[in-house]
Amino acid sequence: MKISQFWDDAIVPALVDYIRIPAKSPHFDNAWSKNGYIEAAVELAAGWCRKNAVPGMKLEVVRLENRTPVLLIEVPAFQTSSTRTVLMYGHLDKQPEMVGWREGYGPWIPRLEDGKLYGRGGADDGYAVFCSLAALRALREAKRPHARTVILIECCEESGSYDLPAYLNALEPRIEVPDIVIGLDSGCGNYEQLWGTTSLRGLINGVLTVEVLTEGVHSGDASGVVASSFRVARVLLERIDAADSGIVKHSAFHAQIPPERAAQAERAAEVLGEEIWRKFPFVPGMQPMQADLADLVLNRTWRPFLAVTGADGLPPPASAGNVLRPKTALVLSLRLPPTVNAESAARQLKAILEADPPYGARVSFSAGQSATGWHAPQTTMWLERAVDAASNAHFGKPAMWMGEGGTIPFMAMLGAKYPNAQFLITGVLGPHSNAHGPNEFLHIDYAKRLTACVADVLAAHAGNT
Ligand SMILES: [Zn+2]
Repeated sequence: MKISQFWDDAIVPALVDYIRIPAKSPHFDNAWSKNGYIEAAVELAAGWCRKNAVPGMKLEVVRLENRTPVLLIEVPAFQTSSTRTVLMYGHLDKQPEMVGWREGYGPWIPRLEDGKLYGRGGADDGYAVFCSLAALRALREAKRPHARTVILIECCEESGSYDLPAYLNALEPRIEVPDIVIGLDSGCGNYEQLWGTTSLRGLINGVLTVEVLTEGVHSGDASGVVASSFRVARVLLERIDAADSGIVKHSAFHAQIPPERAAQAERAAEVLGEEIWRKFPFVPGMQPMQADLADLVLNRTWRPFLAVTGADGLPPPASAGNVLRPKTALVLSLRLPPTVNAESAARQLKAILEADPPYGARVSFSAGQSATGWHAPQTTMWLERAVDAASNAHFGKPAMWMGEGGTIPFMAMLGAKYPNAQFLITGVLGPHSNAHGPNEFLHIDYAKRLTACVADVLAAHAGNT
């Protein structure tokens, strides 16, 4: 069966069922084990893979104690004498609901419209397991070769993959040492060609708490005597980035941008044009942070930027009185360049924020997640050619390479664990697909072509080794 037909007949219906499951990552569902949604998502995927198995395939849902499960699929080599291993990666856990879904749409409401499948987790990253097996099935049917392939699907990615190291260790004898890793949890600059991800940014988050009083007091009585905890927080944040430009000040959070990545950013900017910023749902009149398009590409891939993603100690507007509040807590999210070590950056961030608190306020920064980014090793000639040929064959346009702004903690770990492996990190998170936000969708035509490209790259790999 052709890949496109197989997607329509077998994959889309499975994804529709998958979207209905609120399989929120443990970080967003403390009771995930009791709630059983992650289990349901894994069982759905496992059942589908069993039903659509290729000959010789071994499938197991591996469950280490007190950890999210992992779906492990081993597929023997086909029509090749290559003894090497391909590792394909994806995840089934999801981001939480988020607000702002259009009327009639919702995170757990699958809706197929205009070639897009709306709902949480379809694109990030439920499609990956189906895409992986579909690519292998297509090769088998066409009697084209592929090397031994291990598909590893975790359920902890949106929580920083903290369960994964234990599985990688436990499963080492079965995974063996892959010489290529195909990761299907990344983005694409447009839906018109194949995109390979060359880097990912790192991330530190945590909660900055500023306490100035033991209880709230009349602001008319106290302002001018007691500093506002919000203003103290502003002073502290100004130590990290400049409020007027957003530029992060401290060198500890910056990295040298490699010249070849700067050159690729120029090419990506030419291909993407203003779509680089127009893909975001700006309010009318709002402009991007910089005019130069290549700079915008580098900003979101190789430069650090700070965002405040949550707050506490602030009542909603309708219940806010004229009170000098006792404290302000802000959730900080600092994206880091690919090559900056996140743990040492987190220590620096804490030290910078907690040093010399204004007015002796009680200031603390409690670090949450810290994840180092990832920078791809030099792509070998065969892979570069295979990726380009696949893109030309299935999209009619050459492949593009670009960094991504997000973080996949797993990648830094794999990069360190398999230093000699090649990486094809790609995905369906293109313009407006809005993973993590409202109205997330999977662009089905793109996913079909991507599946065909993955199959071609697997065949080229088998032929090359
Ligand atoms: Zn993901």
